[in-house]
Parts: sequence; C-alpha cells; structure tokens
Amino acid sequence: MTQIDLAPPASSTQPRTIDTDVAIIGAGPAGLFAAFELGMLRLRAVLIDALQEVGGQCAALYPEKPIYDIPAHPAISGGDLITALERQIAPFDVPRLLSRRVETLTGTQGDFTLTTSAGDTVCARAVVLAAGAGAFGPNRPPLDGLEAFEASGAVQYYVRRREDFRGRSVVIAGGGDSAVDWALALRGIAARIFVVHRRAKFRAAPESLAQLEQAAAAGEVELVVPYQLHGLQGAEGVLSVVEVATLDGEIRRLEADCLLPFFGLSMDLGPIAEWGLALERHHITIDPSRCETNVPGIFAIGDVATYPGKLKLILQGFSEAAMAAHAIHPIVHPDQALHFEYSTSTGVPG
Ligand code: FAD
Repeated sequence: MTQIDLAPPASSTQPRTIDTDVAIIGAGPAGLFAAFELGMLRLRAVLIDALQEVGGQCAALYPEKPIYDIPAHPAISGGDLITALERQIAPFDVPRLLSRRVETLTGTQGDFTLTTSAGDTVCARAVVLAAGAGAFGPNRPPLDGLEAFEASGAVQYYVRRREDFRGRSVVIAGGGDSAVDWALALRGIAARIFVVHRRAKFRAAPESLAQLEQAAAAGEVELVVPYQLHGLQGAEGVLSVVEVATLDGEIRRLEADCLLPFFGLSMDLGPIAEWGLALERHHITIDPSRCETNVPGIFAIGDVATYPGKLKLILQGFSEAAMAAHAIHPIVHPDQALHFEYSTSTGVPG
C-alpha cells in the first residue's frame, strides 16, 4: 500500500531548471488532478502557479464555502477539496514552482521549453494548460487612498477566514452572489454588516435573496441601496468611515473598519494569449476528445478550455485531466502501447 506523506515537495523561490515529461501550468483543481492522472500513467510532471499556494480559485477565493456538486461529496469546502487533491497526488512527489508566472513557451511537441517570472527553465515533452481564467485579480473600486487600506487589510477582496471579521463593522459592496453570500455568512460574527449596492435589486440566487431580505428585516444586515462607494476615511491604514453616494450626489457616511468590495474578477490570460493558441473569447479552443489545442503537444483543461457544450465546473476539469493524460502518454512514450486500465487494477504507482 502506498504511504501518503502530506508534506509537499519543497517549492523554493530560487530559479530552477527542471526536465520532465509534462509541465502543468496552473495548480487549481484541474491542474492538481492532471498531476494525479499523469502520475497514474507513470508520467513525470511539474506544477507551476503564479499564486503562492496551490488550489486556484478554490483556495484563493472561497476556501470556506461549501461546494455541493463534487461527485460523492454532498458538501465539501473549497479548502478541503484542495487538501484532498493534495493527498491524492502526494505519492507522486510532484515538484511545485509557486509564486511564479509562466512567461514564455517555445518549442514543439516532444521538446518544449517554458520560462517563468522567477527565472526557472522547464523542459517538457508536453504541456497541460490548466490556467483557469489566467492570472486573476479582483476588480478594484476607484477610490482615493485605496492602496493604504488594502495594505493594512482594512479593504479585502476575499474572505479567507470568517473569524477575521469577528466583532468588526463591515461594509460589503456589490450586488452579486459573492456580496450576498458573504453578508449572510458573516451574520453572528461581524458586529455590523452594511450591504451597499447601486441598484435596489440584487443579482443573486433566489434562495440567497430571500435570506438576505429576512436578514435585513431582522436587522442582521443593513441594505444601503441605491448607493455606490464614494470615499474612504481613516488614517495610517485604519479605516473609520466608508462614504457612499447616490447618483444624485447624496452622501452617507457608514462607520466601518472593514470594506469588502465584491465587483467580480478581472481575468487576464496574460502571456498565454501570445503563444499562438487558437482562442475564443479569452478561452483556449480544444478538441474535446483529447483536450489538445491547435498546437500539437499543448493541451488545455479546466476553466481555460472551451468547446461546444463546455461547462465551467470542477468535475468537468477532472474529466478533461484524465483525457489529456491519456492523450499525452504516446507523446512521451511513442514506443509503448498504452492499455486502458482501472485504478482498482493498477493501484497507485509509488
Ligand atoms: P483555477 O482554479 O482558476 O486555477 C488556475 C490557476 O492557474 C490559478 O491558480 C492561476 O494562478 C494559475 N495561472 C494562470 N495563468 C498562469 C501562468 N501564466 N503562470 C502560472 N500560473 C498561472 N465550480 C463548481 O464546480 N462548483 C461550485 O460550486 C463552484 N463554486 C464557485 C464559487 C465561486 C465563488 C467561484 C469564484 C468559483 C466557483 N466554481 C465552482 C468554479 C470553480 O472554482 C472553477 O471551475 C475551478 O476553480 C476551475 O479550476 P481550474 O483548475 O481550471 O482553474
């Protein structure tokens, strides 16, 4: 039986030179599961991610939120899903190059070279792009002095731990699912919760909206509509007031020590868009039968990949990871026939 050691292989920030079978760009759920599927076929892989931890959107954006549509998990939080995926790939000792963005990709099938922002060089026979929506970041409100409050943590774009907001007066800005969900999730933790939206109508799931209305009626949250963010007041990174304004210029001052703007994510494929891959509206088009792009040897899976009928769901990224791994095997081992086998027959190669 394979021993599972949860300590991840060291991810040094020193520039590294790695020669491997497959370079996986992006260590979100799709990239992590690709590492597993490649390992099961005894292919060596390296995971490269711009973020400082693995897990992509699940780890960075909603580690505490339950996901309900992962097969065989009635509910699992984003963070727990990533921990489980890490356990699953632990037997393969996959090196991770974190906190570095892949900048260049050159070469052809069987002989690719990638370079990263940290000066690493990775040589690989094939490439799996599991880059999600590319390097992602929050849409930031155009407010004077914002940077100082971001640096102190008074303005945050992701809720990593609800407990961080215990006893605090929080302004949540935005009208979508994230704003509504976090307003509900911080009830009983934050001392006060304002929800600022420029329209009276929110764009969230009907069940969440019903709960928000109940929470507002019960005085658990205060809906500040139709207002938008106008200014921040405070000193040395300590926030004291969030100013909001109507379209007519009427200003209200909300006493708060924390602002959570949820205005969506800006997605940027970054250098990937320059690599000659066929794109459709910022996504990479693939042959869905093998997840290969228009460039032989370069595969794309997960949110970054598109084809007719594509659903941007984690479970679909998992399935694409398995298909890509099987399509890559003959590139790395052209002289070996690959016989399809169940994991129940092969076990997990150590
Ligand atoms: P991502 O998770 O986006 O990971 C991509 C990684 O690639 C990132 O870490 C990024 O840093 C890295 N990267 C990009 N470009 C580069 C580069 N050039 N160099 C190095 N690294 C790079 N899905 C569901 O199935 N069920 C749900 O209930 C669900 N709920 C969600 C709730 C929220 C709030 C959000 C935001 C998403 C939700 N999703 C859900 C969607 C799900 O999170 C995504 O489908 C999933 O994360 C996609 O996985 P991925 O591995 O393809 O990409």
